[in-house]
Amino acid sequence: MGVAEARTRARMLGPDIDSLPYVDRAFLPQDPYRAAPTPVDRRIAARRDSRRLAAAAVRGHLEANIVGSRGCPYNCGFCGAAWSANPDVRIRVRSPENVIGELEALHDEYGVSAFRFVDDLFLGVRDVIHRHMRAFAGHGIGEKYVWDATGRINVLDRLEDRDLDVLAANGLREVALGIESGSDRMLQVMDKRITAAMTEDVTRRLLRRGIGVKGYFILGYPGETRADLDATVRHIRKLWDLADRSPGGIRASVFEFRPYPGTPVWKTLTEEQGYAPDDLLAYADVDLTRDGADESMRQRDEFNFSVGIPFGEVPVEQLRATLALLTREQHERDQAGLGTAA
Ligand code: SF4
Repeated sequence: MGVAEARTRARMLGPDIDSLPYVDRAFLPQDPYRAAPTPVDRRIAARRDSRRLAAAAVRGHLEANIVGSRGCPYNCGFCGAAWSANPDVRIRVRSPENVIGELEALHDEYGVSAFRFVDDLFLGVRDVIHRHMRAFAGHGIGEKYVWDATGRINVLDRLEDRDLDVLAANGLREVALGIESGSDRMLQVMDKRITAAMTEDVTRRLLRRGIGVKGYFILGYPGETRADLDATVRHIRKLWDLADRSPGGIRASVFEFRPYPGTPVWKTLTEEQGYAPDDLLAYADVDLTRDGADESMRQRDEFNFSVGIPFGEVPVEQLRATLALLTREQHERDQAGLGTAA
């Protein structure tokens, strides 16, 4: 490819992100949407002198999804957003002013008061977090709105306590984290650049400030042993215990491993371990209800599919029983008002 062609391609695939128009919500009939009020919304409203947040604590927030960046600089083995799976994607972050402009426009047009940053990774670079939080504080975002975002444990680990205080003051309600496993060995295999102890420490610091955590976990990653799986179950229970002693809540979202084309682990499975791509794509529905998690599974139907291959030591049926057990426990916690952050 010549230089001119490469430039054209880069411009087509990665235009200046701040020059793009805001998302036209006329094409999104389910966004913005009214969310049910939560205990967390009531707690945040009680701490702020804001009529807007007080009203949302009673009626529920009108919420909108928003994207603040494109691409991810990390390379987690299972992830379709990993940089090695997206060689054409240039990582781009919207300027704070551009993001804030969309928040204000969504409020002015629809009355939105809560935002969910659904980027692959919004809180992913320390300097960018600092830049955004300075601008959020300058615009009094935390006095008017709440927001949820994706984040990374190793990045949050490097933030000072005062940085976490700023995130909380700026309205961060819940951060979604790829915790994945309680086994440091598996975390290394996944190239997560975190440890279980780091996760516990970051979670403790967030929860102490009333910032909720949504944790994602993977069961059955290639090479996972029974001991690794047990470590993940213990890890989740420890995080729940932490939440029970903190103002913030934690929600555990547990998945069975599925290999996706283009990801680092896909290459390992097909090129080094001899799996046939067709076998890795033979998805079938999974019924988890016989393990008693039917009510808790209601909103996750779209995630209950699998290729049915045991990639680790634990048989697939036992993985699913563990998944159902953990999901049921999380559901019971939600019903009891524990950890229902948002
Ligand atoms: S799991 Fe998260 S941090 Fe890892 S590559 Fe995917 S988006 Fe990036």
